[in-house]
Amino acid sequence: MEVFGHVIDGREVMSADGATFDSVDPYTGEPWARFPLGGAAEADLAVAAARRAFDEGPWPRMGRRERREILTRFAELILAHGDELALADTRDMGKPIAQSRGNDVPRTADNFRFFADHALLATAEALPMDSGHHAYTRYEAAGVVVAIAPWNFPMMLESWKVAPALAWGNTVVLKPAEDSPASATILARLALEAGIPPGVFNVVHGYGPDSVGAALTAHPDVDRITFTGESATGRVIAAAAAANLTPVSLELGGKGANVVFADADLDTAVDWSIRAIFTNAGQVCLAGSRIYVHRSVQEAFIERFVAAARAMVTGDPKDPATQVGPLSSAGHHAKVRGYVDTVAAAGGTVLTGGLGDGLFVEPMVVTGLGEDAPHQREEIFGPLVTVTAFDSEDEVVGLVNASPFGLNAMLFSENLSRAHRVAGRLNVGTVWVNCFFIRDLRAPFGGVGDSGVGREGGTFSREFFTEPKAVVMQIDAERD
Ligand code: NAD
Repeated sequence: MEVFGHVIDGREVMSADGATFDSVDPYTGEPWARFPLGGAAEADLAVAAARRAFDEGPWPRMGRRERREILTRFAELILAHGDELALADTRDMGKPIAQSRGNDVPRTADNFRFFADHALLATAEALPMDSGHHAYTRYEAAGVVVAIAPWNFPMMLESWKVAPALAWGNTVVLKPAEDSPASATILARLALEAGIPPGVFNVVHGYGPDSVGAALTAHPDVDRITFTGESATGRVIAAAAAANLTPVSLELGGKGANVVFADADLDTAVDWSIRAIFTNAGQVCLAGSRIYVHRSVQEAFIERFVAAARAMVTGDPKDPATQVGPLSSAGHHAKVRGYVDTVAAAGGTVLTGGLGDGLFVEPMVVTGLGEDAPHQREEIFGPLVTVTAFDSEDEVVGLVNASPFGLNAMLFSENLSRAHRVAGRLNVGTVWVNCFFIRDLRAPFGGVGDSGVGREGGTFSREFFTEPKAVVMQIDAERD
């Protein structure tokens, strides 16, 4: 079995008390790697290392150009070690290798490149004042950043946090999810190889509640907490952060709605709707898990959509041809199974899919559920999608907005006015029109309601990972 350590102050170490945990490959059911189980002691060590590196080390004091060079080298090393990183995520949580290798690795590298460039090129405001002064803004590194990540896009979501935090001169303690820890240690090893100084990027492993996660979020010497995970966990972390008045950014769950208008190009709508729910076996915060189709095209849409769902290739996630792998863990499978088993009792009809072997759920399409059914209201985080007919624009806007989640929505229409109008009426952080998943790193990413607090991306990440400071200078002494 492979062994991966914490990375604290530039050294790969096990926990002081020797405790460990294993990561189980959800396809084979066998443990494949061992990790140190961190606790409060490791949280203290990692935060102290990050604090020292911030207060005394070169990283925050370095020119932005030099930091950019190092982060660019880090991005190149990520690409060079792409096979190793992709296999780590695939073995940890069952993501098809075509996605981890073809999507997550390049996007992780790209995130480091983008935020390094952004920090170099970002401008700061100068404000000439009538009084003969001028004011300008400095964006100064916030300090020690704690990043807590989920298991569904391990390295990629970690890089959304670590990359801007480092690019703006902070030091970081990352706690990856206990179901997907391996790629974080590999990233920390590569960061050292790239020349990121010891203590700047630390990784600690372990659980959340009553463990290293809780110790990190309650730590008084932390300046920012950035979290991606479940809405319930976000509430716990926000409360822990409040005790120290630590600013917190929360990227939480979703219940993506996908609206297909009568004038949609149905092939486009079917293609994106399939990817929106079955990518990563539906274990995506943005998953388009409730589809609303205009009644006049419902039959045609369902016919094509069900055929496409049946054509998805399920299998060994290490096989490049696989499109849908197993669910990430036995625990998560049990949660999703709760929804699969109760479709009929909730009044729904299964058009295709259902429980498969082991931890597999075959792509599942369900109709006939009312808006009160748990399947329609709660985040399932599995390959189960509901299809419901609507009659009018007002009605469907109401249906989408009735969810407590507000992360994203998609709409399919060839009517430009309708697309803009409806995009403006939906209470979500991102609306995709005739597409899905396309991301510009300059754009805000985040949700409203139970989907989170704050935004990531471009200047939005800068706002969170820096302390803006106003400097007011006298320019024209004559005017005094
Ligand atoms: P989770 O909330 O169970 O765990 C996320 C992380 O938080 C893990 O590292 C876990 O160990 C840690 N944690 C748990 N309890 C903690 C505590 N009390 N204190 C500190 N840390 C704690 O989420 P998950 O099951 O790993 O991920 C799936 C969830 O993440 C889904 O709800 C999904 O929608 C959401 N998600 C959101 C986005 C987004 O950008 N909005 C992206 C991906 C996933």
